[in-house]
Amino acid sequence: MSVRTRFAPSPTGALHIGGIRTALYAYLFAKQNNGTFVLRIEDTDQGRFVEGAEAYIIEALHWCGLMPDEGPRAGGAYGPYRQSERKAIYRQHAQRLIDNGWAYYAFDTPAALSAARSAAEAQKQTFRYDSSVRNELDNSLNLSADELQARLDRGEPYTIRLKVPEDELVQIQDRVRGNVQFQSNELDDKVMLKADGMPTYHLANVVDDRLMQITHVIRGEEWLPSTAHHVLLYRAFGWEQEMPEFAHLPLILKPNGKGKLSKRDGAKFGFPVFPLDWQGATVEDSFEGFRGAGYDPAALVNFLAFLGWNPGTEQELFSLEELVEAFSLDNISKGGARFDIDKAKWFNQQYLMQTDDAELARQLRPYLATDGLEADGEAFLTRYAGLFKERAHTLRELAEAGDYLFGPVRSYEEKMIRKKWKPEHRPAFEALADRIATVQPFEAARIQEAVKAFAAERELGMGAIFPMLRLGTSGTMQGPGVFDIIELLGPAETRVRLRDAYAHFDRVKAGS
Ligand code: GLU
Repeated sequence: MSVRTRFAPSPTGALHIGGIRTALYAYLFAKQNNGTFVLRIEDTDQGRFVEGAEAYIIEALHWCGLMPDEGPRAGGAYGPYRQSERKAIYRQHAQRLIDNGWAYYAFDTPAALSAARSAAEAQKQTFRYDSSVRNELDNSLNLSADELQARLDRGEPYTIRLKVPEDELVQIQDRVRGNVQFQSNELDDKVMLKADGMPTYHLANVVDDRLMQITHVIRGEEWLPSTAHHVLLYRAFGWEQEMPEFAHLPLILKPNGKGKLSKRDGAKFGFPVFPLDWQGATVEDSFEGFRGAGYDPAALVNFLAFLGWNPGTEQELFSLEELVEAFSLDNISKGGARFDIDKAKWFNQQYLMQTDDAELARQLRPYLATDGLEADGEAFLTRYAGLFKERAHTLRELAEAGDYLFGPVRSYEEKMIRKKWKPEHRPAFEALADRIATVQPFEAARIQEAVKAFAAERELGMGAIFPMLRLGTSGTMQGPGVFDIIELLGPAETRVRLRDAYAHFDRVKAGS
């Protein structure tokens, strides 16, 4: 039997990074077993449907390289892959449950149910629609066949509920959590088909997993409690033999380890928790994603793979193909995985360092401010990427690290200027700026020679010259080699920039 896994998101907004982790594990497991990775869109909850969310999910999966073999776009033999297009299938299956005695019609109105809830609360109890109360409620179990038919004929609204058996032990062998048991008396008679004719998550999810011949259900831990009802449904349909294996993945926790990472935590902690940017209806509902922040999708995937799994070795850097090889459900941890953005940055830096400079130059473009000097030049950008990449974790940081090469110096380290600038040297430094501009060819090594020669002539130590070249060209003492920076700036810009800077340094000094 060939392995088939699925990723089954609901298009209710931007896909959280935890969703990508789930998709990744399902993908890795399928590929490792030469199986099939299915994308199914669970869009039956009309109230929560969000325009654009499905497109976002598909684009995010593609960006991460997790291409579904079957799905709404990819097609496949088990479609349609959007639940909203499978309504008739769910209705038939709900009917099947009625016919075999595993479900019943419930006519209780929302008002009646809320009254029952309040009555229970008044006695400090919680109302649960289950075997202990179902005989007192307004459902087909308490109606004669004629009464039932009459109410159905009148078109009275109803839901279809699962008739959970009493006193049974429901259990699964979860691939992550081991033996998990539920007592059927703790379970409510869940709605399978809603009054509007739409299935609930439980019915649609189980029916589709079976009809799409899913062999392994890999999903977040928050779905573990639902699994009890799912197991009963497999039994109710007579599919117990074909029931998929379950693997419930650990929660992703906030950076401080306290509680589940939420959609809002991105804004709160100042890092992305979504793969791509998302434009929601409001500002609070709009987020910058890992792509917008300048992460390499391969680095993100590598980072996510380690959120709940480890290879059992020291190796940390894995390509997607290597992950397919190394992945194992047995090495998934039960405990929550802390979302450590510094680790994500570390992974991304490793990928930046590995990436060829010309390729980085290409990727860098969208992150650059457009008022560039010669930023359009491919050679310029390639050189730039090579010089600055070890100083950045992301493409965004890479674009910002040497922003003075794409426009004027935004700020000077004034403390340094006050400490080191000697106004009496200004004529010499201006002469140096002029000298530098005459160097030919205008290359870092030649520029360095010229500066050394100048220093010797004027009896100025390099220790006095260096900081002034650095500050004058970039405003900061940090950065790659100053002669490389000068080469990138070019002779004309270097000359003007240094001369202007030294005039400015005089003013700074005078003001201090
Ligand atoms: N539609 C559910 C979700 O949004 C699917 C859960 C599952 O994988 O069963 O996550």
